[in-house]
Amino acid sequence: MSDPARAWLSIDLDALRANARTLADHAGTRLAPVLKADAYGLGAVAVARALEPLDPWGYCVATPTEGAELRAAGITRPILCCPPMDPAEAPALAAARVQPALGNAEALSAWRHANGGDWQLAVDTGMVRAGVPWDRLHEWKPVLRADPPAGVFTHFHSADVPDATMADQEHRFAAALAELPARPPLVHTDNSAAAARREAGTARGTLTRSGLFLYGVGTGPTARVHPRPVVALKARIVELHDVATGDTVGYDGAYVAPGPRRIATVNVGYADGYRRALGNRGYMLVRGHRAPIAGWVTMDMTMLDVTDCGAELGDVATAIGTDEAAPGTAIGLETLAAHAQCSPYELLVALKLRLTRSYIGG
Ligand SMILES: *Cc1c(COP(=O)(O)O)cnc(C)c1O
Repeated sequence: MSDPARAWLSIDLDALRANARTLADHAGTRLAPVLKADAYGLGAVAVARALEPLDPWGYCVATPTEGAELRAAGITRPILCCPPMDPAEAPALAAARVQPALGNAEALSAWRHANGGDWQLAVDTGMVRAGVPWDRLHEWKPVLRADPPAGVFTHFHSADVPDATMADQEHRFAAALAELPARPPLVHTDNSAAAARREAGTARGTLTRSGLFLYGVGTGPTARVHPRPVVALKARIVELHDVATGDTVGYDGAYVAPGPRRIATVNVGYADGYRRALGNRGYMLVRGHRAPIAGWVTMDMTMLDVTDCGAELGDVATAIGTDEAAPGTAIGLETLAAHAQCSPYELLVALKLRLTRSYIGG
């Protein structure tokens, strides 16, 4: 374990649970919280345990190992593995009682060969990533009649974009449903952005497959509901250096002091998931002030221009979350992702790399 004083990630399980409640109430469906990639880096078992009292339908994962980890932790609800199943994974999925999402007859026969139980039908309606193409279901009718799926679902590619593609995909999904010999008990389409985009209570499916919203990230201009922040990342100032006009800071001399500046070093870097691309672009909060990043973020350390912050050794710098020194000042994951020119999903999953995690509430 790394030293907790170096840099630390706190995860607010009460906020996570509040977000789950907000989204489920807004959608008017049960949730299938998405716990893939260790719950986007926040800890799948801790997240599942925090959500259990909300009575979700079950959980979504992306690999047999992720499903087995939840089973080992005592989770007994259904688990759906969303990506296409490699036939070689069938025995591991069956052993963990995980439902695969299948999109071709070969995969279904591998599933039966492995004595698997329930399965779900993935339908591709325009993402071209996974599932039976929406206009090809008639070819599947005999198979579906003989071995009906427990659920059928599709996935939107642009639910957070205010265009018509989500409606187009819904029409295709409706056409696919009409081709099924029977309507499965579970029918689902919505991720976080799709659920947050609809008017309250107008979800069409029986489940909402939500990840990002639960973890405290808003879903952009189409959203009608907004989550509470869940994640905070802090590090302590461990050195201070005064530089003169023209001095450079960090690799490549990428920062050139425009005048006398005070530079602070904090022990968090890209090996902690704090991305190099934030260099000369992002900032942290120190004593309620914005401290711009000076030069590139390095593997273990980041330098900040704290000239205007009144910073002292041992001060806490806030990379994500609220600066307790000045309530009301905060850096959200969406803002950080914009500065890092990546998606908030990528930022979240990388926080798992090296940081010490602590959980609040739960
Ligand atoms: C990752 C994923 C989700 C969750 O998406 P969020 O945007 O995080 O809510 C839902 N469905 C599928 C198929 C996924 O791969």
